[in-house]
Amino acid sequence: MNKTISKGVSSARLERAQEIASNPSAYKVCECCDSIVGANSVTCSNCHGYRFDTSQTRVVDQAIFLGTRKQTSVTSSDLV
Ligand SMILES: [Zn+2]
Repeated sequence: MNKTISKGVSSARLERAQEIASNPSAYKVCECCDSIVGANSVTCSNCHGYRFDTSQTRVVDQAIFLGTRKQTSVTSSDLV
């Protein structure tokens, strides 16, 4: 029997989240919209904010959150 655990969770997003979570220092979290952007981004690709939380714990938490919840605001293309 092949039972899937995840309901409506995109495996691509989950993979991306795992990738981010395994390398959190390469990313940061936008303080305005909670998007995850690359550590060298100057402004957020989603809301153009410029305040970021670079704490690795925050990045990991947010990656897991974005990877597991059903959401529409952030796509993998936003995660530059
Ligand atoms: Zn933002």
